[in-house]
Amino acid sequence: MPSWHKILNSIMNSATSTKSIAIPLMEDFYTIQGEGFYQGHAAYFIRLGGCDVGCVWCDVKESWDASLHPLVSIEEMTRRAKSSGSPIAVITGGEPAMYDLLPLTSELHAEGLKTNIETSGVYPLTGNWDWICFSPKKFKAPHESIYESANELKVIIFNKSDFEWAEEHASKVNGSCELFLQPEWSKEKEMLPLIIDYVKNNPKWKVSLQIHKYMNIP
Ligand code: SF4
Repeated sequence: MPSWHKILNSIMNSATSTKSIAIPLMEDFYTIQGEGFYQGHAAYFIRLGGCDVGCVWCDVKESWDASLHPLVSIEEMTRRAKSSGSPIAVITGGEPAMYDLLPLTSELHAEGLKTNIETSGVYPLTGNWDWICFSPKKFKAPHESIYESANELKVIIFNKSDFEWAEEHASKVNGSCELFLQPEWSKEKEMLPLIIDYVKNNPKWKVSLQIHKYMNIP
């Protein structure tokens, strides 16, 4: 765990009130969830800064360095999410589970928002979640605790060997976990036909597409 992460969490722990706790925020915006189980739903995205997973195909590399992003109080994040009118807040990153997310999820719940998270699962998860999307990455092994709590397993297919890797994770998640295969965006033309065939032959899986990219929205 990088030292800046320990420093930030110690700042968070010493905050005088829960609402004054601040976390690096890269961006937040009201949009349509483009992927996975909640695809097509209106959702307010809160993208936290900081990630040490290091995916080579990551499309938000600018999120990696937490120090580049301003510390924003969870009160302010919650106020913006609430005022958007969205029923759902999606906490993403970066890798949002690097932080203690209990205060943020408590604030969002207090304002009546559902709390969804998108995580690679590499850190033990904190917070109270209405939906946990676990998207494992080959570049850093997940923490074992994520398999029991995940509501959704979303595996990014970058090459043919990823199907076997997806099955390894599917064999470890809980029985009610939804299973999705999603082509990596730059390989979509190549991988989508394979995913379609795979899902037809293995119907416990569903196809996930990044439909926000087709709609030209964030
Ligand atoms: S876990 Fe997500 S944010 Fe981090 S490197 Fe991988 S794709 Fe990028």
